Amino acid sequence: EREKDKLYLTGPSRTADGRELELSANIFSGAEMKNAASLGAEGVGLFRTEFLYMNRSDPPSLEEQFACYKGLLEAADGLPVTIRTLDAGGDKPTPCLNMPKEENPFLGVRAIRFCLRNEGIFRTQLRALLIASACGRLRIMFPMISTVEELIKILSLLGEEKEKLEGEGVTLGQYEVGVMVETPSAAVMSGELARLVDFFSIGSNDLNQYVMAADRTSGELSEFHSAYHPAVLRLIRYVVEAAEKNGVWVGVCGESGGDPLLIPLYVGMGIKELSMSAPRIAQARRIVSNLSFGEMKEKVDAVLSAATEGELKSLLEGLRAE
Ligand code: PEP
Ligand code: MG
Repeated sequence: EREKDKLYLTGPSRTADGRELELSANIFSGAEMKNAASLGAEGVGLFRTEFLYMNRSDPPSLEEQFACYKGLLEAADGLPVTIRTLDAGGDKPTPCLNMPKEENPFLGVRAIRFCLRNEGIFRTQLRALLIASACGRLRIMFPMISTVEELIKILSLLGEEKEKLEGEGVTLGQYEVGVMVETPSAAVMSGELARLVDFFSIGSNDLNQYVMAADRTSGELSEFHSAYHPAVLRLIRYVVEAAEKNGVWVGVCGESGGDPLLIPLYVGMGIKELSMSAPRIAQARRIVSNLSFGEMKEKVDAVLSAATEGELKSLLEGLRAE
């Protein structure tokens, strides 16, 4: 199979019956972009900016951030690049931000919650992203959204920074705006959130932890961490349906986006973009190329009718065997 995957190192990606997909990479640094492209990435589905804020005593300046985003967009050479704003907290300690110590950091002042409480830090990042929009095909993505109010606030800050820059004579490029759907509340409110953005990306790592109420770092609770729990997958289907009704496309950027067993189900649900670690892309493209979107769409209900994780997983294995 590995040998066969080598035939799938370049895009485009489409199913046997012609549905177009975007297979993209999750990367940590601009330097990884070239390698990701050589492994078949059609873009970047998740660039985690926390790394810019780690191992240092002060948050990165506007200039430093701009240089990083520009480098990444230029290395992507016209491919879309999804840059996620700061997702500090939870399992991502970020000393330079002096975050308060909390009993339950995964349920605390994490990601966008921190950014909305530290507007200066957030506005600097938004400005750097907006200026970088002139350098390539940028998608700006916000993590850990749990209310419509947060999104309204974010969009107003983004709008303010955009107006300021335009007032200063800075030329901006086109960009898309999206949110991660990784909390149960965002999933439930996905119809309303969809009216405000261009795209969604399912953060299946966190969505799993919050839906199953099981800390993603706990080894003891590994049975809850499976990506095949019907509760989580039914919720993802709900999100895709709500998004489609509102003309918003949906990607998956959590670990499960590159899972060979889940790819047919995700495609059948209507997911348009799968983002994964770059070495998994060729395999994903082989799977996508050999499946029928029409057939998978018909099978989604049957798979999701499973009552247990084990049953669902064996239904997925059955899909593969066909
Ligand atoms: C996720 O939660 O699935 C995700 C992609 O983000 P992170 O793993 O960085 O929290
Ligand atoms: Mg997450």
